[in-house]
Amino acid sequence: MRRVSILGATGSIGQNTIDLIARAPEAYHVVALTGGRNAAALARDAIALRAEIAVVADESALPELREALAGSGIEAAGGRAALIEAASRPADWVMSAIVGAAGLEPGLRALQGGAALALANKESMVCAGPLMLKAARDGQGSLLPVDSEHSAVFQALIGEDLSAVERIVITASGGAFRDWPLEDLDKATPAQAATHPNWDMGQRITIDSASMFNKALELIETKEFFGIDPAMIETVVHPESMIHALVGFRDGALMAHVGMPDMRHAIGFALHYPERRALPVERLDLVKLGQMTFRPACETRWPALRLARGVMEAGGMAGAIFNAAKETALDGFIENRIQFTRMAAVVEEVLTSLSAQTGLIDAEVTLDNVMQADHLARQKAREFMTV
Ligand code: NDP
Repeated sequence: MRRVSILGATGSIGQNTIDLIARAPEAYHVVALTGGRNAAALARDAIALRAEIAVVADESALPELREALAGSGIEAAGGRAALIEAASRPADWVMSAIVGAAGLEPGLRALQGGAALALANKESMVCAGPLMLKAARDGQGSLLPVDSEHSAVFQALIGEDLSAVERIVITASGGAFRDWPLEDLDKATPAQAATHPNWDMGQRITIDSASMFNKALELIETKEFFGIDPAMIETVVHPESMIHALVGFRDGALMAHVGMPDMRHAIGFALHYPERRALPVERLDLVKLGQMTFRPACETRWPALRLARGVMEAGGMAGAIFNAAKETALDGFIENRIQFTRMAAVVEEVLTSLSAQTGLIDAEVTLDNVMQADHLARQKAREFMTV
């Protein structure tokens, strides 16, 4: 029986992971399920999967979790330290699906503990790529991409020599506002931004898709995960979201990963890797689809893409600063404190301001330095948002 844990079990990726695991309960022993504050959903799944422990990161949700698990024999815990302890428990496979930089340390601990870490939490690679890769190199653990684009690239690279790669093309749906007139973007509301044309995802990543901050994070993740020169990474808008990424080789061949937009493919691929097992995903009917279209990714509409280029060039702590400023600006937009278009401006102001601080960007990528950069960036972003 494989020992598995799911960090961020109550979210969109977590629920899709549970869907796959619940189809073969005899194959898995569930160690830990963690959530933020949704104690009811967490308890329901912990009971259904007979988990050893369920943890809510928000301690105020612990009494509700305890009550819901009473008599089940499942351990209940709450708070950040309990979350990290649960993530560190020995497991063969761990899904890292907490949203935001909050997912970095729990995933890192699981990796250091020797697990195969299925990485949906793209922020881990953006904030601390070298640290994650080192943990995978130095210990028994391994990293498997779950972001659909990175899973697609990973799959296209199987059996290939990385030195034969000429370019990586990351596709983007364009999100909720891809066809809006530019002058209307200022008026976009959080509810409008939180609708996605193709993918069913959590609220934050859906809004990040509309602003393309999600794509910006993915470009940085591509550089970090595959060790690719940023100049070799391209983005193209592909409104149908059927091609998840393409890898171009030096002989001119382009290998595309094509399939319906269903995260259970990438999750299932990581769950069964290196085997390819049957998955309950809809098969793509090419004739029904008829055509696939592509457009340039306009940096005027999506300035986050331009900012990502600067972050990839700067390296070091720039990714952690970029992500923390983005998370803070996103909070500001969700809470109606800033306009949709102001998010990119805030992130740029934070990057410019903190890049001028001697030694900050070039600091060694350690967990402490990343936390420190994250803290400073959030502080600065809050300052800029009140101006
Ligand atoms: P959701 O918002 O749906 O879920 C987030 C999960 O994290 C929930 O379990 C939530 O708990 C938990 N959580 C929130 N804040 C904290 C915190 N401070 N500490 C601990 N746990 C917390 O997100 P998604 O599932 O959409 O995304 C998860 C990650 O996967 C993100 O990094 C995203 O970028 C990435 N990803 C998502 C894709 C998707 O299709 N959804 C595709 C590719 C990548 P609760 O709900 O209980 O409060």
